[in-house]
Amino acid sequence: MGADMKKKETRKQNTAAAVLSPFPYSDTNKRYHTYSYALKKAYGHKLAKIPLDAGFTCPNRDGTRGYGGCAFCSSRGSGDTILHSGEDLRLQFDAGLQRARQKWPDAKGIAYFQSYSNTYAPLPVLQQVLAPVFAWEDAVEVSIATRPDCLDEDKIRWLAEMNRIKPVWVELGLQSAKDSTMVRMNRGHGTACLAACMKQLAGSGIRTCLHIINGLPGESREDMLDTARFVAGVHPDAVKIHMLHVISDSALGQSYLKAPFPLLSMEDYVQIVCDQLELLPGEMVVERITGDGVAENLLAPLWTAKKRVTMNAVDRELARRDSWQGKLYAGEDGGD
Ligand code: SF4
Repeated sequence: MGADMKKKETRKQNTAAAVLSPFPYSDTNKRYHTYSYALKKAYGHKLAKIPLDAGFTCPNRDGTRGYGGCAFCSSRGSGDTILHSGEDLRLQFDAGLQRARQKWPDAKGIAYFQSYSNTYAPLPVLQQVLAPVFAWEDAVEVSIATRPDCLDEDKIRWLAEMNRIKPVWVELGLQSAKDSTMVRMNRGHGTACLAACMKQLAGSGIRTCLHIINGLPGESREDMLDTARFVAGVHPDAVKIHMLHVISDSALGQSYLKAPFPLLSMEDYVQIVCDQLELLPGEMVVERITGDGVAENLLAPLWTAKKRVTMNAVDRELARRDSWQGKLYAGEDGGD
């Protein structure tokens, strides 16, 4: 097929996907609960997540839980943007917001503590680092990425107090609900630890978001669907679904260079994401259905660099199935 024909065909398929969605948490063709829809409903305008590096480290790197970090994690601690640790947080935020406003001139920001484990410090240190952000008028929410073993009762109590000033989100890496995978990935905690943390956070008012990764070595489609079922069961407010990025400065990247292992194709990934969306409750916000690969150190799979193509393919597949997020959710209200 020639390039023009291909474009025409894609346009035709996208038009088919654009048929009005029956999904209640959408005002477009989307059949899943997108982050932009959730923000628009809550604030009526664009909010940009501004990544910040507060200079924390990670217990899975310094020997407290383990050495070397999770096998898929880059030396930058999973921060997928280039941040400058040690730089004044306000300067980082200003620069990020300025960048966002080139695209969305009236955007306000979400202060997003992204890299490493941002509650991995004694409470007084956390208070010193994080508290000033709650006074920034142009930071509408505060989002804190961390590990479940880096939160305790006192930290949760303090964050719940801060949550009365402005919404606090805690983002936790689940990655997979299969503990044997997490042992192989050198994660340093399993599902029990995460479930206990979610229990502690319940009722605090703090919003939660879980990260999961599809395509981890040795995982079957059913394993990935089990991860989605686990997420539905612990019921965070939001989820981020990523494809595994094999990056050069990670342990997994180094093994891949020595002996490449099989990875999901885009077609398989799209099928799995649609299957997972069907299992998740409709009210759960899906912040991402694929990640942003950092082009210069991405070894594989290279299709992940085409984020928009993957997102469009998910829209088309859900429309083709006449399906939507939560169609097979077996929660309190049952599936369809
Ligand atoms: S993914 Fe998170 S927990 Fe794992 S090594 Fe990286 S920063 Fe630490």
